Amino acid sequence: MDFDLSQPDRALQQRAREFAEAQLFPNEMAIEEHGHLPQPILATIHRQVLAAGFNAINHAREHGGQGLSLFQQMLVNEQFGKATGGIWGAAWQPAIPLKDGTAAQRERYLLPSCRGERFYCFAITEEGAGSDPRRVRTTATRRDGRWVLSGEKWFVTHGDVADFMIVHALADGDPEKPTLFLLDKTMPGIRVKRTPKFMHNYISEHPEFTFENVELGDEAVLGPVGGGLELTKDWFVEARLKIAAHCVGAAIRAAEIANAYAGERIQFGRAIRDFQAIEFMLADMAVEIMAAKSMLYRVAWDLTQSGDRKRAHAMASVVKLHASEMAGRVIDKALQILGGRGYMRENPVERLYRDIRVDRIWEGTSEIQRAVIGGQIRKRGLGLYTGWVGGAA
Ligand SMILES: Cc1cc2nc3c(=O)[nH]c(=O)nc-3n(C[C@H](O)[C@H](O)[C@H](O)COP(=O)(O)OP(=O)(O)OC[C@H]3O[C@@H](n4cnc5c(N)ncnc54)[C@H](O)[C@@H]3O)c2cc1C
Repeated sequence: MDFDLSQPDRALQQRAREFAEAQLFPNEMAIEEHGHLPQPILATIHRQVLAAGFNAINHAREHGGQGLSLFQQMLVNEQFGKATGGIWGAAWQPAIPLKDGTAAQRERYLLPSCRGERFYCFAITEEGAGSDPRRVRTTATRRDGRWVLSGEKWFVTHGDVADFMIVHALADGDPEKPTLFLLDKTMPGIRVKRTPKFMHNYISEHPEFTFENVELGDEAVLGPVGGGLELTKDWFVEARLKIAAHCVGAAIRAAEIANAYAGERIQFGRAIRDFQAIEFMLADMAVEIMAAKSMLYRVAWDLTQSGDRKRAHAMASVVKLHASEMAGRVIDKALQILGGRGYMRENPVERLYRDIRVDRIWEGTSEIQRAVIGGQIRKRGLGLYTGWVGGAA
């Protein structure tokens, strides 16, 4: 068993770390000041992303992506996840279901997205449909050989900056026919209803949209009619692995800051790390990170080898659940070690503390991840998780 990173992977990890520190960290406070990343800064980072080859790391080279394996994507996402305000979103990763489009759809949406000329948002959630996407009510009705889409979507991340949307709707209002539609945001009938504010300050907003009789041709259907849930699942798997990697990176950054501070801060005549209360917190943080990182690397490596879609779904829930809950605990301890300074917005740990909270909610709450894992244990046996090679017990 060889746990060493290969030389190319080590170099990729180092490049991603340097990119995060040089291009992402210095712009974090702009998001705090403006509540989003101002366009000129975003445009500058976009140019740097292209120059460094960190655009579309999740897509194949033939589509203009970087063709990184899942494991390599994880290495990059871990480093980028150290940055606050979701500024890692500036290194765009077009939605994975776009690769399942027709040749014309790939030409119109995927290729320019990989180049950074187009940007998407993914709209599934509605007022009545959160954890349960089967309660989606947005409907695309067949009329005179075209689709007419009406409904409402909530929490659409990047909805303000995207120029096209992937919308999860029911074909003909049939709950058995969830379907994905590609919509250019300028189409008549699409309106931003409200742009609520959230706990984190973020690179972009999460607006609510209404759709009133948006007319679409068959070329707007992504994947098969009725195949929306499967494609949305692929999106969830990718997003969950990415969140887990971000969480490991965020926890490491917070722990590094707290560890350095514990050595410098003098109270009662000695460095605070000399108090066992502080040292034990650092020890617990290190153990938590080591466990989560080991799990993440193993799963990312395993999925890179097997490419098994069902296994990916089962494993993405485990790493997302564990890493997001771990990051919450570790960053909370880091903030405690920093005392009042950890509560200042200028401190990355304060921002990580707010940022990380949503990772237990979006792309499936912790409870939903547990439901997925419980279902997998029932269906495929505990050995899927407690075994080793290929999940054998
Ligand atoms: C900042 C932000 C950005 C987002 N971006 C997007 C986006 O880009 N696109 C998009 O489509 N959505 C997006 N979402 C929506 C997100 O995916 C949902 O908020 C999430 O899936 C939970 O849905 P809900 O908020 O309606 O909570 P609910 O589903 O109403 O859940 C409420 C509570 O009930 C629990 N619960 C629900 N069902 C069960 C169950 N079966 N068993 C046990 N507990 C259960 C939940 O875990 C939770 O604790 C975003 C959300 C946020 C906060």
